[in-house]
Amino acid sequence: MSDCIFCKIAEKEIPGNIAYEDDKILAFHDLDPQGPVHVLIIPKKHIASLDDVAEEDQELLGYILTKVKDIAKDLGLVNGYRLVVNCGADGFQTVKHLHFHLIGGLKMGWPPFTNK
Ligand code: 5GP
Ligand code: ZN
Repeated sequence: MSDCIFCKIAEKEIPGNIAYEDDKILAFHDLDPQGPVHVLIIPKKHIASLDDVAEEDQELLGYILTKVKDIAKDLGLVNGYRLVVNCGADGFQTVKHLHFHLIGGLKMGWPPFTNK
């Protein structure tokens, strides 16, 4: 999608600090990390949000989830991590291209919810 910043990163039109890439997905470091490790895992296919996932995306979404552990391991997250998907206005999704926040390298608490 032409005006989507994450599509532009996937297409190398703008630079991203890439942690993992294959033909279907890309993982790159977040510009504003919320922990020692914070990467965004995206499908290269433009899907705007979880609300826009279609039946035909089942395999792609399953593929992303099978890759998370490998990306986490490569980033040294041996004690665990958190995977977050923000969706829509209440979920505070700011970039309208589906992305999974993979955050780790710190001991987290629960619940995580704030409205800051
Ligand atoms: P959201 O709020 O949509 O769940 O998360 C969007 C994330 O994308 C934020 O954590 C933000 O820091 C990150 N982000 C926004 N623009 C860019 C960018 O151009 N490059 C990178 N690497 N991260 C970005
Ligand atoms: Zn996009």
